Amino acid sequence: SLGRVVVLGAGYGGATAAKYVRMLSGGHIEVILVERNPQFISCPVSNRVLAGQRTLAQLSFGYGALQRHHGVKFVRGSVTAIDAERSRLVLADRKLAYDRLIVAPGIDFIYDAFPALATAQERIPHAWKAGPQTRNLQRQLLAMPGGGVFTIVVPPQPYRCPPAPYERACQVAWYLKTHKPRSKVIVLDANPVITSKRVLFERAWRELYPGMIEYVPGSELREVDVATRTVRTGFDTVSSNVLNIIPPQRAGRIALDSGLANVERRWCEVDFLTYASSVLPRVHVIGDPIESGLPKSAHMANAQAKICAAAVVALMRGEAPAPAPAFANTCYSFIDDHQAMHISTLYRYDPARLAMQAEGSGILSDHASIEEGADADAWARQIWRDTLD
Ligand code: FAD
Repeated sequence: SLGRVVVLGAGYGGATAAKYVRMLSGGHIEVILVERNPQFISCPVSNRVLAGQRTLAQLSFGYGALQRHHGVKFVRGSVTAIDAERSRLVLADRKLAYDRLIVAPGIDFIYDAFPALATAQERIPHAWKAGPQTRNLQRQLLAMPGGGVFTIVVPPQPYRCPPAPYERACQVAWYLKTHKPRSKVIVLDANPVITSKRVLFERAWRELYPGMIEYVPGSELREVDVATRTVRTGFDTVSSNVLNIIPPQRAGRIALDSGLANVERRWCEVDFLTYASSVLPRVHVIGDPIESGLPKSAHMANAQAKICAAAVVALMRGEAPAPAPAFANTCYSFIDDHQAMHISTLYRYDPARLAMQAEGSGILSDHASIEEGADADAWARQIWRDTLD
């Protein structure tokens, strides 16, 4: 045996890393995957649950195949600390020793400016982690009166999945156009412009939902009144029937508590050849928590997990990691019930900057289409298989 790898978090990054360490080591590395939730629920495609195009059950998967097909050992539990001095993870009921640790806890939310929001999530859900909040937001949309207002508040970059708030606006507008015309979607965006697929979203909003979506860029959130679902920005005071505030984000809590989040106490600095943390020895970090300039996406977490897994296996064999990683990110967005569009970007390791460098500005669809809707479905099936099967 070459030793033991423990993986913290079984989302897109962690589950992929666990599988690929087992595969690439020919089963010679023991892998323990620790996750607090009983099931994997996909954020990608979850915006389509709001409009009733998909059910949450269709986006939920067990961890059985990783155990059966790859011999990954699954431990259900919440990690409370990383004891790097003794090389072990601390859970409520046990401690798990590791030779190398891969940390993939996703994001958590920053409520410092509006502490009341933290305890008001039944009334004002973020639905930015797929699960009960997705269902809650859908229930609120269904219960909305005709002629009502659905407001989406977009946080400043960087946050998980740059185009997803605008895709959500499309999905909500599609539902309202079909079932409750004369209703409105207001997007209060902290950013100065739509930061992904701007031209295509603007065209979709103009052509499919004329007069229905009001977009207000540069909207800094100043006040929130939970009882009346009212927000005040630098320009406006907006009262809503449904208020979906997506809070600002940072690395998952365990990354802060363990000191891994060394960039502004928000994000984790890593070496892009191995995803090794610059803070703790023999600890690697992948997915949304890393400071990278890369989009925070499932596609990226899955790709980083494979580079990290290969590097971890090489290091545990006493070999050098691959010198020049490259990968692509593809991100689909649905603009109605069937049509989607995408952006695809290639990234290469730049040895001068020690960072992943985008090749140009990526390839964007000319227009959304039903064909790309089918491609988006195929993308989701493929990444679920690659991550969990
Ligand atoms: P996650 O997938 O969130 O996994 C983290 C896991 O760690 C979770 O299962 C969590 O329970 C577990 N965990 C955290 N802390 C602990 C602890 N202390 N103990 C035990 N377990 C712990 N990306 C795309 O590529 N394409 C899309 O179309 C797309 N659409 C999106 C739509 C929406 C609405 C949203 C919100 C996101 C979307 N994304 C999309 C982004 C994507 O969901 C994330 O980038 C991706 O999930 C990141 O993977 P991750 O492994 O870093 O984190």
